[in-house]
Amino acid sequence: MKAVRIESPGNINLVEVPIPEPDKGFVRVKVKAAAICATDLEVLDGRIAANYPLIPGHEWSGIVDSVGAGVDESWIGERVVGSNDVVCLTCPACRRGEWRYCKSFEEIGFKRNGAYAEYVLVPAYGLCRIPEQISFEEAALCEPLGVALGTMKKSRAKLGDTCLIMGAGSIGLCTLAVAKAMGLRDVVVCASSRRRESLARQHGADHFIAAAEQDLMKEMAKIHPDGTDVIIDATGMEECIQSALKLCRKGGTVVLEGYGRGKTMQICMDDIHINNLKVIGAGNNWNMHQKAIDLISSGVVNMCDFVSEKMGLEDYARGIEMVRSRPEGFVKAVFTL
Ligand SMILES: [Zn+2]
Ligand SMILES: [Zn+2]
Repeated sequence: MKAVRIESPGNINLVEVPIPEPDKGFVRVKVKAAAICATDLEVLDGRIAANYPLIPGHEWSGIVDSVGAGVDESWIGERVVGSNDVVCLTCPACRRGEWRYCKSFEEIGFKRNGAYAEYVLVPAYGLCRIPEQISFEEAALCEPLGVALGTMKKSRAKLGDTCLIMGAGSIGLCTLAVAKAMGLRDVVVCASSRRRESLARQHGADHFIAAAEQDLMKEMAKIHPDGTDVIIDATGMEECIQSALKLCRKGGTVVLEGYGRGKTMQICMDDIHINNLKVIGAGNNWNMHQKAIDLISSGVVNMCDFVSEKMGLEDYARGIEMVRSRPEGFVKAVFTL
């Protein structure tokens, strides 16, 4: 089969590899759509722990093509998305439902081969069926939507809370869609430029701040004069996190949703201590695929306009370049097979 594989950091190629066979408990999915995530570029650049050579790709959808031992054959032919978490299901963390804390945790697209390929192997226990009305491209985006769902759940935001989202990448925009669906008010999106302003407005942003040309602190003093109830940082960038801690209202919540790329950052401790802020870590997707599919299929959130560019695997270099350069209006490049 064709696959796009990272041989070692910085070295990515289209290769021909054998079609993999599903082990016990796994299914083989014929990939129909696989989105390129900014995190995949971190893997390509060698900034995230991964097993090379690696076929990346954790935002996927497809059709079950064959099943391993012990898996119900009725899955064959089903349109599916699924969890990327390969776990034991028996350790104390797994039994609490906290798969990400499993002692033997491995993630598809990082430690195991992912979906930039014609086929991917995934565990049967994490599969979800895709309703007919959802396209494969849209279904593939239930992975980043699931990240946003987990983040907002951890934030404990309530109806009527004010909200600021730092960053208008795909995770920032998914978080915006969830925040609006939850009934948060005066939702502000702050990005460096205005390139994604119209998309953010379409998804319900009440305000948009372009940090390169506006003073974030001054603008926020006008929009949320008493400070913001819930701030989500979807950037992982030091200056954004520093600002978030200063803009949050006393007793409010700052959720760290962005990847910090291993950096040690300077924060003013007293912003948290004196103001009694709640600072919450919200890494990763917490098994939210089914909820994401349900919300898309019921129309509560709409992901179809996040698919900006569709391409074949052979066009991988163009897709990666688009994710790096983020041209105007671009959100996601999706391989369609
Ligand atoms: Zn992703
Ligand atoms: Zn476990």
